[in-house]
Amino acid sequence: MENRISGSTRLLSLIGTPVDHSKSPIMYNYSFQKAGLDYAYLAFDIPVTKVADAINAIKTFNLRGSNVTMPCKSEVLKYMDDLSPAARMIGAVNTIINEDGKLTGHITDGLGFASNLRDSGVTVAGKKMTIIGAGGAATAIQVQSALDGAKEIAIFNIKDDFYQKAKQTVASIKQEVPNCIVQIYDLNDTEKLYAEIATSDILVNATLVGMHPYESKTPVKDATIFHKNLIVADVVYNPKKTKLMLDAEAAGCKTVGGLGMLLWQGAEAYKLFTGEDMPVEEVKELYFS
Ligand code: NAD
Repeated sequence: MENRISGSTRLLSLIGTPVDHSKSPIMYNYSFQKAGLDYAYLAFDIPVTKVADAINAIKTFNLRGSNVTMPCKSEVLKYMDDLSPAARMIGAVNTIINEDGKLTGHITDGLGFASNLRDSGVTVAGKKMTIIGAGGAATAIQVQSALDGAKEIAIFNIKDDFYQKAKQTVASIKQEVPNCIVQIYDLNDTEKLYAEIATSDILVNATLVGMHPYESKTPVKDATIFHKNLIVADVVYNPKKTKLMLDAEAAGCKTVGGLGMLLWQGAEAYKLFTGEDMPVEEVKELYFS
């Protein structure tokens, strides 16, 4: 690293809290070194109350850009000069690009989900999807899938505070992508859930269910309803294979785990920062296997 940093090296950052567990610094710095790009990436612990200061610092120090993680993804929105269509629809930003002081906010979570599926030979265009969840990850996937040409999206969530958010997502998709049929249902209506899964091409879990320490949980209790042609994707990456995925595999379904989404949303941000492709295969082997 000491041989790489010079007077012209441009900084990139991650802001949010906590950030000390993040794989982003090691993933990006490895890739910059490998590609001979004159950038360095550091994580900064920034609570919501410090977002304005962090945005000023991005401009003052002329950072190339920044990733944004929880809990700052919505707060940074009001400081952006421009937004990508997905960031505008979702109301959240995870990647900021700085062009001579003009800040554009993007969100790469949904792009990362789509690239991870594509990496497994699956595309969403023309497909019917059942997506369980209405939080940050779920909303990004729902909006991006609609923008990417999904034919139909059935959203299921428990009737908590996120249910209202899902209603907004449905309204936003209906307005911006009228060709996509989108509906929201109560996750506790299992009869409806199973009926929608039966006619879906892709099922996605984008909730906390199945995540450590609740590995024994799954949002789909009856594993007999999986049909062989169903692709089952989970955003949870700890454990790498959730109970939902194990049940689906036992029923003969192809499954896609959440770790790849994490990698690919970083690769999408890397492309925005540098204009180049991240060495995904190497990064995957070194840090994501
Ligand atoms: P969030 O807090 O924004 O949303 C939580 C979601 O889980 C909501 O839909 C909520 O209704 C649902 N939920 C919570 N408890 C539930 C229960 N008992 N039964 C059914 N639903 C329940 O969280 P998020 O940021 O969207 O994260 C969700 C999951 O996605 C986490 O496991 C997170 O690690 C993962 N994630 C993965 C990636 C990736 O790149 N793979 C990226 C972001 C998030």
